[in-house]
Amino acid sequence: MKNVPLYLAGEFVQSQTSDWIDVTNPATNEVIARAPAATDAEMRKAIESAADAFRTWKEVPVSERARVMLRYQALLKEHHDEIAEILSQETGKTFDDAKGDVWRGIEVVEHAANVASLMMGETVGNVARSVDTHSWIQPLGVCAGITPFNFPAMIPLWMFPMAIACGNTFILKPSEQDPLTPMRLTELFEEAGAPKGVLQVVHGGKEQVDVLLTDPVIKAVSFVGSVPVGRYIYETGTRNMKRVQSFAGAKNHMVIMPDADKQQVLNALVGASVGAAGQRCMAISVAVFVGEAQSWIPELKEAMTKVRPGAWNDSGASYGPVISPKARERVESLIATGEAQGANLLLDGRGCTVDGLPDGNWIGPTLFSGVTTEMNIYNEEIFGPVLACMEEANLEDAISLINKSPYGNGVSIFTSSGGAARKFQHEIEVGQVGVNIPIPVPLPFFSFTGWKGSFYGDQHAYGKQAVRFYTETKTVTSRWFSSEATAEAEANFSIQ
Ligand code: NAD
Repeated sequence: MKNVPLYLAGEFVQSQTSDWIDVTNPATNEVIARAPAATDAEMRKAIESAADAFRTWKEVPVSERARVMLRYQALLKEHHDEIAEILSQETGKTFDDAKGDVWRGIEVVEHAANVASLMMGETVGNVARSVDTHSWIQPLGVCAGITPFNFPAMIPLWMFPMAIACGNTFILKPSEQDPLTPMRLTELFEEAGAPKGVLQVVHGGKEQVDVLLTDPVIKAVSFVGSVPVGRYIYETGTRNMKRVQSFAGAKNHMVIMPDADKQQVLNALVGASVGAAGQRCMAISVAVFVGEAQSWIPELKEAMTKVRPGAWNDSGASYGPVISPKARERVESLIATGEAQGANLLLDGRGCTVDGLPDGNWIGPTLFSGVTTEMNIYNEEIFGPVLACMEEANLEDAISLINKSPYGNGVSIFTSSGGAARKFQHEIEVGQVGVNIPIPVPLPFFSFTGWKGSFYGDQHAYGKQAVRFYTETKTVTSRWFSSEATAEAEANFSIQ
C-alpha cells in the first residue's frame, strides 16, 4: 500500500495525519494508495515555505523561469506514456484518453515557456512634457489551486506552470480521488530544476481547502470542480479578499441542423457524449435535433450500441468506468429519474458488466429521446455516458433553449450553412463554441472561456488571461530632470 506523500519545502514527506483517504482503481475498486488529509501544521508549512520561496523566485529573471518550463515540457514528453499509465490506473481512463489528458497539459507548459512576451507591459513616452509612463506586470505572491478528479494531469498543468512562470509560488491541492498523477507531475517539475518551495502539494478535502481560502498569505485561488463547491470557493475566497477564478460544472448542447453531414454528426455525438465515460466538463450531454434531423435518432442509437466500456489497456474499449461506486449510483439514479419523468429510454447502460472486471464502476452508453426542460436529466449535470436528445423546430428555437440554460461552458453546431453557423456563434450565450467541432476546447494560446454558471470570476485559465489573473500591473510615471529641460518640464507638467 502506497502512502501518497506531501510535497513541502521541496521535500516529499510522509504526513503525520491519522486521517487517510483511499485511492482506488475504478475498474476493480481495489485500493491502490492512500492520500493523507494534511494536518494544520503541514498546511502552515506549505504556506510559509511558499511565502519564503516567493521572496527569491520573484527575483529570478523571466527567461530563467521560462527555461524551467522548457525543461519541464521535455521531461513530460519523455515520460508521457508512463504518466498516462499511472493516470489510467487511478481514473480508469483508456490509455489513449489518458495520453490526451497529459498532452493537453504539456501544451499549457509550452505556453508557459513563452511567459516573457506575455508579461510585457505598455509604454507611452511624453505623456506630459518630459514625462513617460510605462507599466510592469509583476507576480502576486503565493497562489493556490484546487483541482477535480476528471483531468488529474491537464488541470493541475492549467494552473501551476502559468502561475510559477509568472513569478509566483504555488500550493496545489489535487483531487483526493486521483493524487498519484499530480505527484508524478510534481517529481518531474523538481527534476526540471524548479527551486525548492516554488511548488507545494498538499492533500485532503474541504478542511484543507478552507485553510487556503482564508489564509491572508494566499493572494489568488484557482478552482476547477462541481457547481456547489465552485460557488462556495468563489464566495469564500472573495470574502477573504482573494482573487478567485472558479470553473464549475456544465451541461453542453450540440445543435444538429438537417443540412449537416449525418455521418460526421453521428461520429461526433457518440465520441463527445460517452467518451471518457461522459466525465468531461465539455462533454456533449444534450443533442438538439432541428427539424428533419430528428429522423437520425435511430441511427444514433445504432451507433451507440456498438460502443462499450472496458479496461484502460483494452484497445477495443471506447471508455472506462466512472470514478467511484458513488458516482455510478448517482448516474444510475438519474437514469431512473429520467425514465420516471417520461423520457424515452432508448439505450439503458445500467447494470453494465465487463468480462474479468466484475467490480468496476461500469455504465453502458445510455440514450434518451423526448427529453424536456423540466426533467432532471436535462437540468442536472449527469457526468456519465448519458446523452439526452431534444427536438426543436428551427435554429431560433434551439438558440433560445440553450440561452435559457444556467450553464455556459461549451456548445456546438453541426451544419453546412455558413449563415446558420454565423448566426449561432453570434447569438449563443456560451463561452466556447464549436462549428462542426463537438468539443471546442481552445488551445493554450487562447483561454478556456466558460460563461454563466460554468465559471465564476473574470480572468480565465491559460492564454493571456491566466497571465492577467496571476499578476498585478504596476504603472510607473517618471520624469528625469536635465538642467535645460527642468524649468520647462516643471512648468508644463500637469495631468488634468
Ligand atoms: P468536486 O467539486 O467534488 O471537487 C473538486 C475539488 O474540490 C477537489 O479537489 C475536492 O477535494 C475539493 N472539494 C470537494 N468538496 C469540497 C468542499 N465542500 N469544500 C472545498 N473543497 C471541496 O469536483 P469533482 O467531482 O472532482 O470534479 C467533477 C466536476 O468538475 C464536474 O462538475 C465537472 O463539470 C467539473 N469540471 C469543470 C471544468 C471546467 O473547466 N468548467 C473542468 C473539469 C471539471
